[in-house]
Amino acid sequence: MNNGPFPWVVTKEELEQAPTGAFVECADCLGDNRALRDGDDPLRWARDHVAMLPHHNRFRVVTLKNFSIASVLSPTPDSAR
Ligand SMILES: [Zn+2]
Repeated sequence: MNNGPFPWVVTKEELEQAPTGAFVECADCLGDNRALRDGDDPLRWARDHVAMLPHHNRFRVVTLKNFSIASVLSPTPDSAR
């Protein structure tokens, strides 16, 4: 299971084991967000954001899991099977 930030996945178990990430975003902006790493405080980013744009006070923390699967153009490497 290795394909940089988008690991190859074949089984549901591999998908469950894929690393997760998270970001905080402003619900009132299109695309303004900050990736969250261990120890990052989403409230700090939200407070800085609302200080610049006082009418932007709705936020969400989004967790995600990147993965790749085989296609005709990019077959899964044998090591991932
Ligand atoms: Zn905003």
